[in-house]
Amino acid sequence: MSGGMSFELTEDQQLIRQSVAELAAKFDDHYWMTKDQAHEFPQEFYDAIAGGGWLGMTIPEEYGGHGLGITEATILAEEVARSGGGMNAASSIHMSIFGMQPVVVFGSDEMKAETLPRIVNGDLHVCFGVTEPTAGLDTSRITTFAKRDGSDYVVNGRKVWISKALESEKILLLTRTTPRDETTKPTDGLTLFLTDIDRDHVDIRPITKMGRNAVSSNEVFIDDLRIPAEHRIGEEGKGFSYILHGLNPERMLIAAEALGIGRVALDRAVKYANERVVFDRPIGMNQGIQFPLADSLARLDAAELILRKATWLYDNGKSCGREANMAKYLCADAGFAAADRALQTHGGMGYSEEYNISRFFRESRLMKIAPVSQEMILNFLGSHVLGLPRSY
Ligand SMILES: Cc1cc2nc3c(=O)[nH]c(=O)nc-3n(C[C@H](O)[C@H](O)[C@H](O)COP(=O)(O)OP(=O)(O)OC[C@H]3O[C@@H](n4cnc5c(N)ncnc54)[C@H](O)[C@@H]3O)c2cc1C
Repeated sequence: MSGGMSFELTEDQQLIRQSVAELAAKFDDHYWMTKDQAHEFPQEFYDAIAGGGWLGMTIPEEYGGHGLGITEATILAEEVARSGGGMNAASSIHMSIFGMQPVVVFGSDEMKAETLPRIVNGDLHVCFGVTEPTAGLDTSRITTFAKRDGSDYVVNGRKVWISKALESEKILLLTRTTPRDETTKPTDGLTLFLTDIDRDHVDIRPITKMGRNAVSSNEVFIDDLRIPAEHRIGEEGKGFSYILHGLNPERMLIAAEALGIGRVALDRAVKYANERVVFDRPIGMNQGIQFPLADSLARLDAAELILRKATWLYDNGKSCGREANMAKYLCADAGFAAADRALQTHGGMGYSEEYNISRFFRESRLMKIAPVSQEMILNFLGSHVLGLPRSY
């Protein structure tokens, strides 16, 4: 894309939206409810997305992908969530859609040739291992350590919340290779690997959680895992900067997912508000029901605009930190508010599982926490954009 900013999607982008929506529509509420309740990975959905060639959307063409940008990826993510698949659907494919960027940009030719075509055809599942129990959002405090030993590294440590670890063959793993107090900057001395999850040395335990239960999130215990040096991405000690590179697109993707859930929740609320008659009138006639829904429409549309600006800036090689962070913040907020209001509109039925609204409510809540909390976004805007003193 080039030229000035346009509010209209290109024909190709509209086609992507429509095709993804049609494909995702084959998986109905019952499918997602069942997968969520059974804590079962949505393999049929994943296979359908892979079969349609969508997993390789942003992977370069030389590796079998389409080489498209974050604009197209966010359109896909939004439609997948909006289909009613919500975060169960989005999280099952999220890593394939943009998570391999550190490999695409900084990986060796051998690593790319070995892994990227397998991402495209859906055969390779990868999880992302950053968060640790004692570090929290302060990634510089991670302690999982990779110690050089001849041509290998030997890794010991513990990760938490690693989504899809159970289903994954490989992990994109952030480790320390130099202790924090021996580096000039706290974020130096971190090293990123893409390596096999050898279950003899990696113990994976699913965490019982509030929602999005079709995709596991796990505690990961790593015990003397040997990683060949060829599995290192880029240079030793520079892992944090490789991850930073993917943070803005990741925020946009999450924003799109939040937006999609907000949209589907609002659609369902409008339908119910038109149909449900109490006191001899459809409940949607009451401004106490109608106004919050109209307000949510305005908030979702406004959040979408900043998201579209952010994706446009990124795809045109311009800096987008401010907009990407705002998009994540505003979409997560608008998406959750819409789900909450949809729940209120459904009254008691909102609280039941039957209408799927409670599922949207639980899933939309997640985006205010992960992969980065609303507070950390405000920290970024406060200190990096407004120039206020840093609290972190
Ligand atoms: C379902 C789910 C899936 C996940 N999947 C993955 C995954 O695949 N891979 C992965 O690596 N991680 C994953 N995560 C982890 C997620 O990225 C973290 O939970 C998130 O980054 C928040 O970190 P924390 O939980 O350690 O919170 P903490 O760092 O403990 O923070 C707790 C609270 O304190 C606030 N806070 C902390 N410091 C400040 C400050 N300076 N100013 C203001 N507020 C502050 C935070 O905003 C937050 O609200 C997942 C989490 C969940 C819930």
